[in-house]
Amino acid sequence: MDTNMLIGDRLETGTETPEPILNPRTGELILDMPEASHAQVDAAARAAAVAFKTWSRTTPAERSGYLLKIAARLEAEAEDFARLEALNCGKPISCVLNDEIPAIVDCYRFFAGAVRCMTSTVSGEYMAGHTSMIRRDPIGVVASIAPWNYPLMMMAWKIAPAIGGGNTVLFKPSEQTPLTALKMAKILADILPAGVVNVILGRGETVGNQLINHPLVDMISLTGDVATGKKMLQAASKSVKRTHLELGGKAPVIVMDDADLSEVVSGLQAFGYYNAGQDCTAACRIYVSDRVYDNFVADLTSAVADIKYDLADDSLNHIGPLISNRQRDRVASFVERAREQSHIDITTGGKVHGDRGFYYQPTVIAGARQQDEIVRREVFGPVVSVTRFSDVDQAVEWANDSEYGLASSVWTSNVGRAMAVASRLRYGCTWVNTHFMLVNEMPHGGLKQSGYGKDMSMYALEDYTAVRHVMVKHGA
Ligand code: NAD
Repeated sequence: MDTNMLIGDRLETGTETPEPILNPRTGELILDMPEASHAQVDAAARAAAVAFKTWSRTTPAERSGYLLKIAARLEAEAEDFARLEALNCGKPISCVLNDEIPAIVDCYRFFAGAVRCMTSTVSGEYMAGHTSMIRRDPIGVVASIAPWNYPLMMMAWKIAPAIGGGNTVLFKPSEQTPLTALKMAKILADILPAGVVNVILGRGETVGNQLINHPLVDMISLTGDVATGKKMLQAASKSVKRTHLELGGKAPVIVMDDADLSEVVSGLQAFGYYNAGQDCTAACRIYVSDRVYDNFVADLTSAVADIKYDLADDSLNHIGPLISNRQRDRVASFVERAREQSHIDITTGGKVHGDRGFYYQPTVIAGARQQDEIVRREVFGPVVSVTRFSDVDQAVEWANDSEYGLASSVWTSNVGRAMAVASRLRYGCTWVNTHFMLVNEMPHGGLKQSGYGKDMSMYALEDYTAVRHVMVKHGA
């Protein structure tokens, strides 16, 4: 197992207090992972700043070539990566291998192509005798800070557009899930010029904090909690660093009376519980027309009760445990507080599962009301609430009544109703008759407190580059 960070061209371990990395399926220690020292973070920042001078002058075609090489190595070692990610996160290996890694490889390939297709809007004579043109140039050193729910995917989402755009990167994975990032570090050391990507380990309050306040850092990119995003903004304000924030979510799902209920139920069985619900776009807050509510709750309950987990044969598991004891207890406490309310009906699940690992039963909370905590706060676990509505306007209002604005969906067989509702939802993404589907060509990112950075797509390349104006006086 790789334990070295990547600092410039050096692969080396951290020298500070180790973080225990646990197997979420068993709670057992995998290994202790030392964090970077102050001096190591500093060395990485200097390496990134030095590398920027030459990397920012490479052509798009050259950078594209490097991204394609990264994609090829990742693809060639997909099974090893999947095993490691599954070990660290508790995910079923098949989910990583079949769902996540192909999308991650495609992310590097997409940006390899996209960077060669970047265009600027105008050039011309806006003042007589002067030609103006728009450039999109890299920003500088980007501190990229990732969460624990999709470690390898978040690394790709952050690194590919940043280095594709000509920036250099200081990448910090979550202190809980560094294993695949360290395997990638070794591959990146083989492929990239020194300092273009540096991988450093450590906790948020120490290494993360040093990164976001570092004078050589020009931009901070975070995928994480809203509270962490606010800290980034405070740090960024001191030297006016650019920020790219992808924060939490509480995705509403509106189920109209004309929706195909079996499609909705099988969709939510997958999209509400994938990755044990530890997903900022998880379909977790369902609003259902009262004409179909009772049937829907009954069908969803039996579908969710059928979700497989903690089976010895991993190929049968749909989901894994939560990432940590702390996260499992947090999820459990949300459900316990919901249970105390007399209008709530927990129709399946509602308990911690087993006595080893960090499992929580897939849970349906029916009868939830708009003001309930379970409807308003991000649980980040395998828990879905169901709320009854009688009027579509009311459902749209409730769906929008959230601090979050990342993802949403509407389910109906009437395309006109779907479009009318989609146009009123204040979310970065609205799916119709599906949920959760991402493609590298389309942007992923939020509104409101879900943040404003866009991942994937040409929009991410725009976020990681700066618009510049060059004017040439020629007198003609
Ligand atoms: P977190 O905010 O606790 O941690 C995210 C990262 O920030 C970690 O690497 C952590 O070490 C670092 N960090 C924490 N405090 C810091 C500080 N003071 N300074 C610098 N770095 C700091 O989030 P998490 O618990 O790892 O992940 C779950 C959260 O991420 C959820 O809220 C989820 O919705 C969100 N998320 C959002 C998206 C999205 O695309 N919008 C995707 C995945 C996860």
